[in-house]
Amino acid sequence: MLIFLEPHITPDQRRALDNAVRGAGCTTTETPTPYGPFLVVEGDLDRLRQLPLSVFGGVRKTVALSKPYRLHSREHQADPTVVKLGDVSIGGGGFTVIGGPCAVEDDATLLETAQAVKNAGGHMLRGGAYKPRTSPYSFRGLGLDGLRMLRDVGQQVGLPTVSEVCDPRHIEACMSNVDMLQIGTRNMSNFDLLIEVGKSGHPVLLKRGRSATIDDWLNAAEYILAQGNMDVVLCERGIRGFDPATRNTLDIAAIPAVRERSHLPILIDPSHATGHPAYVPPMAKAACAAGADGVIVEMHVRPETALSDAEQAMLPEEFRDLCEDLRLLASVRSSRRL
Ligand code: PEP
Ligand code: MN
Repeated sequence: MLIFLEPHITPDQRRALDNAVRGAGCTTTETPTPYGPFLVVEGDLDRLRQLPLSVFGGVRKTVALSKPYRLHSREHQADPTVVKLGDVSIGGGGFTVIGGPCAVEDDATLLETAQAVKNAGGHMLRGGAYKPRTSPYSFRGLGLDGLRMLRDVGQQVGLPTVSEVCDPRHIEACMSNVDMLQIGTRNMSNFDLLIEVGKSGHPVLLKRGRSATIDDWLNAAEYILAQGNMDVVLCERGIRGFDPATRNTLDIAAIPAVRERSHLPILIDPSHATGHPAYVPPMAKAACAAGADGVIVEMHVRPETALSDAEQAMLPEEFRDLCEDLRLLASVRSSRRL
């Protein structure tokens, strides 16, 4: 880091600055210039960054020469992370399709849906048991009963499962019943929850916050990684836009932007991004072409009876056609190294 000083920095100001820099475990080398000296600072720069150096008296500006060290970054790990859930892998070149209802509703409907996912060639089953809803009067999920249904149906059909956890008190129940914990868009910045899912060591699907920058999102992932849990998969699900023609605005460019910065796998959720089943296939295919590691899609055997997100659910036959197209695209992608 460089610290540029005012030409007339007072001895007291200089002493205060030196003490702060030394206190953070760093050393300085001073170079005089006609516009005032500058200091080259070396040492524990992560500690130094926590000091508000630019507001110290006599400091003109500071310039960071290196990025902070982060576990999510390509600098930390060049090879892509591959998250394994039984026989299913996410990341590393394959294309993983997760399908299922927005919410777990009852045994029979979940089983029918899971069979449709399996028959279409889907790799994992999704289903919310704890539903964060915009209105407190909407269906909030079946809780523990829903988790157990997901476990039983997943085992019966042979699909690993993913379900959302909203509260640290539910992590244990989620871990013992489902293969992957989903952190929803509304909880991306719930740092205590992120720390707890990090401690759990269970694979995590981390959705992007509705108004989060890519940097915010990667820092949220960092909370989980910093607990020693490296099984994190990112999921872009659309960010808040201004146009009600789609539920959110799908940020396809997030795929290369994340790839450049991070080794973590990235999935796309075209269901919550668009809010329309007819828009899901084109966006899922765009995600595949743009290099995503997979998609997570909402599907229901009878959308007219669905208790949540009915209007965006695909039908089983639509889901089957999409899976077929995605297999084709993914094979072109791997043969052409797209
Ligand atoms: C969901 O996947 O059902 C969900 C609520 O997603 P999001 O957090 O992206 O809105
Ligand atoms: Mn939903």
